[in-house]
Amino acid sequence: STRPHTSNKPVKPSSKGFTTEAKKHLGQHFLHERGIIDKIVLAVNPQPGDRLVEIGPGQGAITFPLLDRHGELTVIEFDRDLIFPLTEAARAHGTLEVIHRDVLTVDFSAIAGEGQIRLVGNLPYNLSSPILFHALDHAAAIRDMVFMLQKEVVDRMAAGPGSKVYGRLGVMLQAYCHVTPLFDVPPGAFRPPPKVDSAVVRLVPRAPETIGIVDPGKFSAVVRDAFGQRRKTLRNALSNLCDAAAIEAAGVRPEARAEQIEVADFVRLANHLANAT
Ligand code: SAM
Repeated sequence: STRPHTSNKPVKPSSKGFTTEAKKHLGQHFLHERGIIDKIVLAVNPQPGDRLVEIGPGQGAITFPLLDRHGELTVIEFDRDLIFPLTEAARAHGTLEVIHRDVLTVDFSAIAGEGQIRLVGNLPYNLSSPILFHALDHAAAIRDMVFMLQKEVVDRMAAGPGSKVYGRLGVMLQAYCHVTPLFDVPPGAFRPPPKVDSAVVRLVPRAPETIGIVDPGKFSAVVRDAFGQRRKTLRNALSNLCDAAAIEAAGVRPEARAEQIEVADFVRLANHLANAT
């Protein structure tokens, strides 16, 4: 393993007693720019009674300002070397509950109980899509999410028909959430700086009764196949799932390509197929 104190690199002490170096395999890029941190806290704008959960607190760049504002916070961190320093440093700021786990194994619905949680996170970029899909699986337990991601991923999340980056991620997220890009963040705001630009995005899950997806499995299959071969017409790309007549019956042109049709068209098509079987 590449635990920092077993490597040849000197262990650099950093602020607040954290002595771990950034670990590449955990996507660690620590925010240090005050202005950006303030903008994230402002975007979250915690209100009394909110149940805030941060994914990947790292060395606490967002954690401690949020704690100062809100008094309590739950964080989910996978890096064992950060658990003790986080817990120690948090004492001066408020009540921190630290869950030492891989976020992909955390049951957000269980944390939310009868209520809803609000998710925050400067996400490990290598896991952004899995984390987003994991959150979608628990959408009913989540009131909103404010995430820092690779800018290119945020562009894909928010893209619509006609855009070169419109695809599976955008359709899946927009079907279940309102997606609002908030602001861009340059590499220099992090230590070490990532190779790519970043952006902060807000996701607000739609009310379950307005999503209107009859069979989520069927919906994902349609979106997956449609964009699996994005140059093909829907008639061809979806040939394993249905024929042209079924596409037409759903009110979608079989000769269209996936990148030309709206999120609502995908929902209608998947619902038509779900109801027909
Ligand atoms: N929030 C801090 C900041 O803004 O400076 C750190 C952000 S850093 C980009 C991502 C954080 O996610 C790291 O602390 C990393 O250890 C943590 N992380 C990586 N993989 C994780 C996983 N599977 N579950 C939970 N946390 C993870």
